[in-house]
Amino acid sequence: MTIAHVSGYPRIGANRELKRATEAYWRGELDREGLERVGRELRARHWAAQREAGLDLVTVGDFAFYDQVLDLSVMLGAVPARFAAEVELAAGEVDLDTAFRMARGRAPRGEPAAACEMTKFFDTNYHYLVPELHAGQAFRLASSRLFDQVDEALAAGHPVKVTLLGPLTWLWLGKEKGREAFDRLSLLEALLPVYGEILARLAERGVEWVQLDEPALVQDLPRAWQQAFEAAYSVLGRAPVKLLLASYFGGLGDNLGLAVNLPVAGLHVDLVRDPAQLEAVLDRLPAYKVLSLGAIDGRNVWRADLALLRERLAQARMRLGRRLWVAPSCSLLHVPVDLERETGLDPELASWLAFARQKLDEVATLARLLDGRATEVDRQRLEAATLALQARRDSPRLHRPAVADRLAGVEPVDHERASPYPQRALAQRRSLGLPLFPTTTIGSFPQTDAIRAARRALKAGELSREAYEARMREEIAHAVARQEALGLDMPVHGEPERNDMVEYFGEQLEGYVFTRSGWVQSYGTRCVKPPVIVGDVSRPGPMTVRWSRYAQSLTDRPMKGMLTGPVTMLQWSFVRDDQPRETTCRQIALALRDEVLDLEAAGIRAIQIDEPALREGLPLRQGEWQGYLDWAVACFRLTAAGVRDETQVHTHMCYSEFNDIIAAIAALDADVITIETSRSDMELLDAFQDFAYPNEIGPGVYDIHSPNIPEVDWMVALMEKAAERIPVERLWVNPDCGLKTRGWEEVEPALANMVAAAERLRRRH
Ligand code: GLN
Ligand code: ZN
Repeated sequence: MTIAHVSGYPRIGANRELKRATEAYWRGELDREGLERVGRELRARHWAAQREAGLDLVTVGDFAFYDQVLDLSVMLGAVPARFAAEVELAAGEVDLDTAFRMARGRAPRGEPAAACEMTKFFDTNYHYLVPELHAGQAFRLASSRLFDQVDEALAAGHPVKVTLLGPLTWLWLGKEKGREAFDRLSLLEALLPVYGEILARLAERGVEWVQLDEPALVQDLPRAWQQAFEAAYSVLGRAPVKLLLASYFGGLGDNLGLAVNLPVAGLHVDLVRDPAQLEAVLDRLPAYKVLSLGAIDGRNVWRADLALLRERLAQARMRLGRRLWVAPSCSLLHVPVDLERETGLDPELASWLAFARQKLDEVATLARLLDGRATEVDRQRLEAATLALQARRDSPRLHRPAVADRLAGVEPVDHERASPYPQRALAQRRSLGLPLFPTTTIGSFPQTDAIRAARRALKAGELSREAYEARMREEIAHAVARQEALGLDMPVHGEPERNDMVEYFGEQLEGYVFTRSGWVQSYGTRCVKPPVIVGDVSRPGPMTVRWSRYAQSLTDRPMKGMLTGPVTMLQWSFVRDDQPRETTCRQIALALRDEVLDLEAAGIRAIQIDEPALREGLPLRQGEWQGYLDWAVACFRLTAAGVRDETQVHTHMCYSEFNDIIAAIAALDADVITIETSRSDMELLDAFQDFAYPNEIGPGVYDIHSPNIPEVDWMVALMEKAAERIPVERLWVNPDCGLKTRGWEEVEPALANMVAAAERLRRRH
């Protein structure tokens, strides 16, 4: 019998119950027991859903109040010294409040301390807390939460499989700290006994299977890490439980031989990202091993083609017999919880989708289909899926010939500005009349309660469209007046009309669909609702032109238009799976190109195209980077390149790791790029200097995430450092990122200081 299971299930709850309870606990409105109760209820509900769907195992270990990587760090006793109270150091349980302090710096109990760093989990939009590792660090079993959860599931009568991030991937995701340089791989030996203890404690409870997640296996591993896998698993393989080694987010590639031969009882592979690896895995898998095939897409919202999967997996079923398991490709953490709640979607569209709850059914049905023990319900599901997918394939919603025709007509010259940068810079200097060290901001000004209230009233039908637009114009006028008073050289309209930089554009483009409750955890209690790109993308009409034109009418200074770039529009959405991502991105680029040209025609002389997601789109394997960067850069250029020399193209990216992608950044050929630098003390400009980056740069001079007002001296000093690396004629002065999360009472003095810093710099240079 084929075993059906999942790598993990979303924990936030269909109503974001986890978010509500956790935030209430932080505010002191819910006590610890109340919070723990919500956790128990959610786990019970999610396990029950897995059983009801007919899965053979329920997965325990995917729950966390904040982050599962954090919980593992806590369980391993890897709590940085600044959080560890005396008691905990002595060997007791690490308290939940300690975990919350590691995550966000503070908690109802315990001293505030600097939070741990957070970063994206592989190529997902989920953020984990980076384990802090020290030379010679000791580990100990410091939390029994996982065991309690196992006991809960067993008490409810469920057949339990436990999931846990494996030791190599935990180390892989960690960061070496402390003054002495060391290799974090050296910690493995100390780590393994704690894993051993965990596995033994699970075995004592009668747990048969433990899934150790090692997604690091889909990345380029140095030889030493590959060897460490062998060493570690030859130890762990002796544990008194069966281990399922799980790889996902990509193919095993050159780690395939390593992965199939590790001495464990089973292997899970991602057949969505790499269907072609099935053949090789089947050929090389030792005869004693279970193979779990991740056939249902755990990263996207499309309904599975059950008929096709039955066919594709039939061979594996024949060869493996009872050693075959089926599952989603990865944890369902990355998709929304339940499609049933999307009552607002039109039924045809809804029939094309599957969220986590629906994917449970798909997995269970697929297992029964493969075994030839399909029930009536399975047969109906199979047929419904086939019909829905057929309808989707043929739908005019997907294919709009005008879009394809236009894309086919794109020529190489459409990616080229009329003149090279030096010539454009001269034309722009004439048309914009900016001083040395021009000042600007990144786009958004504070999204005040009043602005949000107006938008809610509009949605609720309590405020007319005209009244709402008038309110937004007032906000724009206000923002422009303040910028004039502050003396900013290149003002912005302030983006009051935007709820979100992707949603705002997606709502105005054809091809995008929005869900009502398609929430996905981003980090901690933060959830996002990514739009779904269903069909060919095009722009029915101008999106931002009236706002920018109005803003420009209020000032003689050059107003900067503000758009979200094609790669970011793609990256922060669920993308259709029936054509290459690249094609979808090019469609978006063409739609945005029209907006750029309309802005120019409306008298806007500078246009910023934000690409904060460019870097995170990098594939997990370095060998695939160039291919991605080539089309990503082409899409940006297609968006931007239609304008005249006089029109200045800006872009913005809010991160500071440019070394890997500096050539691509230069290839964007934006006239100006604004970046995050203040926290790295301008060191990141080294990458730009070494590359001899040819165009203009605005290195952010203050961190907008902090409420502190930056000092003039401090910003001048930072810019002087910048001036050592970049010729002053090519430097701009601006904050790190948009100001929407700040209040005006912080923004005004900060910008006043920034303008004063620029004035001082002009006098000096
Ligand atoms: N223009 C956007 C803003 O200022 C950019 C946001 C971002 O980079 N994430 O809010
Ligand atoms: Zn930013």
